[in-house]
Amino acid sequence: MARARPARGAGIYSITGPRWQDIRALVDQHLPSQERLRQLVPILVFGFLIVASLGFNYQIGSSKDARMTAAQRQLALNADIASLKLRAEVLASGTDWQGELAQSLPLRAAREGRVVLLSDAAGSIQARVPIGSHYQGNLLTVLGPGQPLTIMGADAGVMRIALNDGTDALVTVRNVPRTDAQLTFIQPVASALAGWRSGATIEVLLLICGGLLLMLFAGAFWYFAPIRKAREPDALTRELTEAIPGCGVWRWNLARGHIDWSPPMYALLGLQPDSSMMSYGTLASKLHRDDDLRAELDRHLREGLNLFDQCFRLRHADGHWVTTRLRGHITRDADTGEPYLTGMAVMADPNAVPGAADANARLRDAVETISEAFVLWDNHNRLVMCNSKYQQFHGLADDMVQPGSSYDEVIAAASEPIVSKRFAVANKNDHQSRTYEAQLEDGRWLHINERRTRDGGYVSVGTDITDLKQSQTKNAESEHQLRASVAELRLSRRELEHQKQQLVDLAEKYALEKNRAEAANRAKSEFLANISHELRTPLNAIIGFSEVMQQSLFGPLGHEKYQEYARDIYSSGEYLLEVINDILDMSKIEAGRMTLDLGDVDVADIVQDSMKVVSQAAAERGIALERQGPEHFPIQADRRYLKQIFLNLLSNAVKFSQDGGRVDVRLTRSNGQLKIAIKDTGIGIAQTDIAKLGRPFEQVENQFSKSHQGSGLGLAISRALVELHGGTIEIKSREGYGTTVTCSLPIRTPRPANVEEPLAKSA
Ligand code: ADP
Repeated sequence: MARARPARGAGIYSITGPRWQDIRALVDQHLPSQERLRQLVPILVFGFLIVASLGFNYQIGSSKDARMTAAQRQLALNADIASLKLRAEVLASGTDWQGELAQSLPLRAAREGRVVLLSDAAGSIQARVPIGSHYQGNLLTVLGPGQPLTIMGADAGVMRIALNDGTDALVTVRNVPRTDAQLTFIQPVASALAGWRSGATIEVLLLICGGLLLMLFAGAFWYFAPIRKAREPDALTRELTEAIPGCGVWRWNLARGHIDWSPPMYALLGLQPDSSMMSYGTLASKLHRDDDLRAELDRHLREGLNLFDQCFRLRHADGHWVTTRLRGHITRDADTGEPYLTGMAVMADPNAVPGAADANARLRDAVETISEAFVLWDNHNRLVMCNSKYQQFHGLADDMVQPGSSYDEVIAAASEPIVSKRFAVANKNDHQSRTYEAQLEDGRWLHINERRTRDGGYVSVGTDITDLKQSQTKNAESEHQLRASVAELRLSRRELEHQKQQLVDLAEKYALEKNRAEAANRAKSEFLANISHELRTPLNAIIGFSEVMQQSLFGPLGHEKYQEYARDIYSSGEYLLEVINDILDMSKIEAGRMTLDLGDVDVADIVQDSMKVVSQAAAERGIALERQGPEHFPIQADRRYLKQIFLNLLSNAVKFSQDGGRVDVRLTRSNGQLKIAIKDTGIGIAQTDIAKLGRPFEQVENQFSKSHQGSGLGLAISRALVELHGGTIEIKSREGYGTTVTCSLPIRTPRPANVEEPLAKSA
């Protein structure tokens, strides 16, 4: 046999020797294609099975016929021998038919279900073998009517008939020579064919088993036919195998479970390269029972994952476990659509566990996606894993964060942030971990948690809490400001309460003083009213007597001076009475005792009367006095008070007018009110003094007014009386040019009003 050896460019294996190659090429040329063959095999096998079944059926039938023939021959032979052996004299004596029959029968004549009957001339059965046979009575009754056997005897041969009891049997009858007795051999067909049946059953079973086996082989061929195609390494596999020696190439039909390994894969497991296709069962026998490679592949297929990267353990020929990492792609065959895993297997880190590659990748992803800086050191202070945030945080180059880098190297290469502040955070007395907050030189804050791992390494997680710290600082500042504001507010409130208390005290004092003032005012008014009343009585006497003396009613006074004194006393008394009347009126007003006596009055008429009163004084000083407006102006008012008002105002106008001046009185209607404006061309009033006027005893002092008499009550009384009518008084004046005092009275029903407001308003 030619020796197999690896050969480049001609597949993984080739067979040496040109003759074999020629034969192989010839066979390949004339053989139907593999797929065609694969389709033909089941048909051929099915056809073969049908032909075989037909042949077998024929053979079974033939053997059955042969068996029947042999049984008939055996029956006839036994019958002939026995009939010849029977002795006629013994039968004629009629003594021992049963014994004679037993002796005459050849050996094994009564085997295989055969029954021998000996009957007399009447057909009555006299002896039988075996003796316990149930065939009794008359022979014709046993064999049934219509059969020629008893009549024809040996000439009828062996016949297959249905006995009277329904049994299908082979029967032959012999006439015993020289007697009337007949010897009958009966063998049921079932007994005759018993040996044939058991043999046939075995043969049928063998045929079925053979057929099934053949079908199984055919199925296997049909199923495994693509193996040849699959196991032939493609160009990529060959290239991979050559490019990466020591790396096993896998091509795994995931639908059928056929696996094709390259020689290095066998070498990895210490096995001899095998050119045959490997089934998954073979692989499973080498696979560690905890590593369910098939389940993982199913998961990939289910989830549509094409990239496969898995570690698992295979048993080496020596018995130890080899941790293998298989990396590959799952693709689908363009023709059949069957999934294939094509990949490379290498010996992995013995510590690697199945699924670790995936798990590591997932873990790396997870660690990378967290917002914290993460680093894990092993018990030898070597780097196990860190994320990019840790790398950025320490300014580490990529080559410095490779797993296995020592702690000292990494820290030396790191641009270690300078910690300006560090605060330990309360930690439940745990010596295995510590937590602290650190402020870096650039102002950022970190919350760092370091913890020992079980294997002696440690893991550190750093969280950037700058925003949190800033908001905490802001909150602290806000809180501080808030506290300051609260303190200020408390102070202000205290001050306000203090001021409030002061105000309350002042209000109390004011109310007290006001009450006192009101009481004093009332007392003053009452005093004035009383004193005025008391003064009026003697004053009337003075006025009356002085008038009498002035008029010399009881005779001349004598000297001229007495006459002059009497006149002065009278005028002074008159003036004093006016003042006292004014004081009395003012007191009444302030005491609220002044009431109106309303009636229908003609204001124009009252104005006219008042003008008449002052007309003499005006005429004496050359002051023109004129009235404008309607002749009649009826309203509801107190006649006496209206006259008092107009007299006051007109007398003031005349009094404070220059000689040769002018006083105009004008009545108008405006906005439902009667307006009586008294305008003079007198000395006028300074603007600053206008506001003072209208208050009792208030006078404006100037050179001119000093020369005039007056109590300073006229305007105040006028204002009070106008307001009692529900009206107002307005003073407009310009110093040196004149004054206009306007009374506004409601035309309709007058309404009472208190005398509180200042009288005048600046023009
Ligand atoms: P008297 O009785 O003093 O006149 P009044 O109350 O009538 O008191 O007037 C108060 C003051 O108002 C007067 O003293 C005067 O100074 C001023 N006064 C009133 N009417 C006029 C006016 N028509 N022209 C100038 N001054 C006036």
